[in-house]
Amino acid sequence: MAANTKAYLEINEQLQSQQVTLVAVSKTKPVSDILELYDLGQRDFGENYVQELAEKQLLLPNDIRWHFIGHLQSNKVKYIAPFVHLIHGVDSYKLLLEIDRQAKKFDRTIHCLLQVHVAQEETKFGFNEMELMAAMEDIHKYKLLNQLQNIQIAGLMGMASLTADTEQVTKEFAYLKMLFDHFTAQPGNDQFRILSMGMSSDYQLAIAEGSTLVRIGSLLFGSRQ
Ligand SMILES: *Cc1c(COP(=O)(O)O)cnc(C)c1O
Repeated sequence: MAANTKAYLEINEQLQSQQVTLVAVSKTKPVSDILELYDLGQRDFGENYVQELAEKQLLLPNDIRWHFIGHLQSNKVKYIAPFVHLIHGVDSYKLLLEIDRQAKKFDRTIHCLLQVHVAQEETKFGFNEMELMAAMEDIHKYKLLNQLQNIQIAGLMGMASLTADTEQVTKEFAYLKMLFDHFTAQPGNDQFRILSMGMSSDYQLAIAEGSTLVRIGSLLFGSRQ
């Protein structure tokens, strides 16, 4: 196995010129593949599974920024809390409380994205619009009460439907961007600036709709089992 360094260099150049952050999604891939891109300058890597991430983190350079992009269970937060850079898929208040609690233990602030459900599939996690609005209001209230001091809501994350219908995918990304703009426009939300949307199959569409961060796996590392 090996990373596709040619694809990496091309994609990275495009994204840099557009000021979009590239997270290289390395789930199921060996550390040697990660090091290939690391040696070319890549520092943001994404993983989906807690145990796999914790193991790789021990073996790899400390200046890697690890993004947790999978579905995180509250009882596993403690394994990644000491080092994780950004948790993308936060979709419950309970999880947020646990991230805050663990972050406090390690005297850190952990940046989180709230996941929004925009796809047609039932299986994708995330808040709907009403839940998202309510969660943002609640978080704001708790912050005013000096709670949740060890988390920072840094933006939104979403996954579009798995479909060849580009109009549908574009519509879903545009909807996410609209929600994102709603919050960035509010005073006091200057930490809210990351819109994580777009994967190998749809990142060009996502960028066209205003993505600030794309999560790309198979184009860089080949397909997975
Ligand atoms: C696996 C995964 C990706 C990367 O998918 P590719 O299609 O391989 O680019 C991006 N985001 C999430 C949430 C993932 O689980």
